[in-house]
Amino acid sequence: MPTHDLDNTSRLSIEENVQLAPFTSFRIGGPARFLISARNVPEVQDALRFAHKNRLPFRILGGGSNLLVSDDGFDGVAIRLLLDAVTVSGGMVQVEAGFDLTSLIHRTVEWGLSGLESLAGIPGTVGGAVRGNAGAYGSAIGDVLTTVSALDATTLDPVTLRVDECAFSYRDSRFKRDPGLIVVRALLALTPGEPQEIEAKVTATIAKREAKQLSCDCSAGSFFMNPMVTDAELIRRFEEDQGVRCRECRIPAGWLIDQAGLRSLQVGGAMVSHKHANYLVNTGTATAAEMVELARLVKREVQDKLGVLLKEEVSTLGLTI
Ligand SMILES: Cc1cc2nc3c(=O)[nH]c(=O)nc-3n(C[C@H](O)[C@H](O)[C@H](O)COP(=O)(O)OP(=O)(O)OC[C@H]3O[C@@H](n4cnc5c(N)ncnc54)[C@H](O)[C@@H]3O)c2cc1C
Repeated sequence: MPTHDLDNTSRLSIEENVQLAPFTSFRIGGPARFLISARNVPEVQDALRFAHKNRLPFRILGGGSNLLVSDDGFDGVAIRLLLDAVTVSGGMVQVEAGFDLTSLIHRTVEWGLSGLESLAGIPGTVGGAVRGNAGAYGSAIGDVLTTVSALDATTLDPVTLRVDECAFSYRDSRFKRDPGLIVVRALLALTPGEPQEIEAKVTATIAKREAKQLSCDCSAGSFFMNPMVTDAELIRRFEEDQGVRCRECRIPAGWLIDQAGLRSLQVGGAMVSHKHANYLVNTGTATAAEMVELARLVKREVQDKLGVLLKEEVSTLGLTI
């Protein structure tokens, strides 16, 4: 006998007790009490109504490439965003939140539109990228956005925000700070260019990432954000060691973890990648608890040895680090 209220939600695909691990790049995490796959905005609204009526918390799932889910799962409603319509007019691209970012970048090559090349190879959806202001090599998605359409999760009303209202900064945005705003659509302003040149830039970005082994499986990419550092001696050491100037006083977390001697450190099946020290990887059997213990250990050691406090880039569901 179902205890949940399904009024007005019969058109929704609602599954119960669904393991979340397969929906995350970590391949870690227990079951969600409910999993709803939403293919359009009215379905996202219905999914939220379902959560409200049943007095359950909700959480949006994009591509799951930046998410660590508790071993106990989530006693609430996980809403998978599958909305993926895209239209192009001149240099303006309107794209729904569930569209895969990599596929979008391939489409922009076909359309001869430049602006997203540095983001090639970043997994996940457009919505997840907007929420975390995903980026690489000095560019981020916020640089090419003009407006973001969101849903207010409480009132279910649509909200349209201009880019200057989205508070984009390094891996941060208004949507990250306010989980009550769900990104459903984005309008990007791209620059017309030669498809061959755009493709060459995309290929070069992917080659650069492959050379640094940034496509590593069973991770969430960079686990920690690159911290701002005030210690002039540490900055000097970094610049001398790497032969590059640090940007905005940020030192790569991977370099700090490496300097603390933590590369390949392991807790159960969770390991600091030997290829890239800011990637914490599931070697096959890791639990969320092991990943959390490893992350805490890394934070403690980096703080003790280098005096720098690392902050997670990865988001969590049902647990804290
Ligand atoms: C191998 C690898 C390499 C990576 N490299 C990079 C990189 O170079 N640069 C970079 O920035 N990131 C990188 N990442 C991290 C990740 O790809 C990005 O953070 C990505 O944008 C997350 O998108 P997603 O759809 O997978 O989000 P998810 O992991 O599904 O969700 C992440 C968080 O965003 C929330 N969320 C998702 N969609 C929405 C929405 N529509 N509205 C509101 N909230 C939402 C979720 O609730 C969750 O809290 C990498 C990850 C991996 C696995």
